[in-house]
Amino acid sequence: MKIKTNDQVKIIAGKDKSKIGKVLQVFPESGRASIEGLNLLVKHLRARRSGDKGQRVEFPAPLDMSNLMLVCPKCGQATKVGFEFKDGGEGNKKTKARVCKKCKKLID
Ligand SMILES: [Zn+2]
Repeated sequence: MKIKTNDQVKIIAGKDKSKIGKVLQVFPESGRASIEGLNLLVKHLRARRSGDKGQRVEFPAPLDMSNLMLVCPKCGQATKVGFEFKDGGEGNKKTKARVCKKCKKLID
């Protein structure tokens, strides 16, 4: 997975293009992610009882990950992500790590 929860990402398409935000949730099945405060949709909730007011609830709609770029925490640039295998600690198991294509540093 190129994008994970709590990553900083930049939106490269759509109404919030070029904005940067934090990933709240990733939906691997649909290849989408929702970003804090971005791509907001408003949901109108009807009043349940008479006398109550209906509510407007804003929530971030998930965006297709192809419309997102990771902002590298090391160099601060929006970048493509590569993968590299690094030696893990325990049992020396190799783990897959993300690599910034710009500064070549491991991201995690
Ligand atoms: Zn970088």
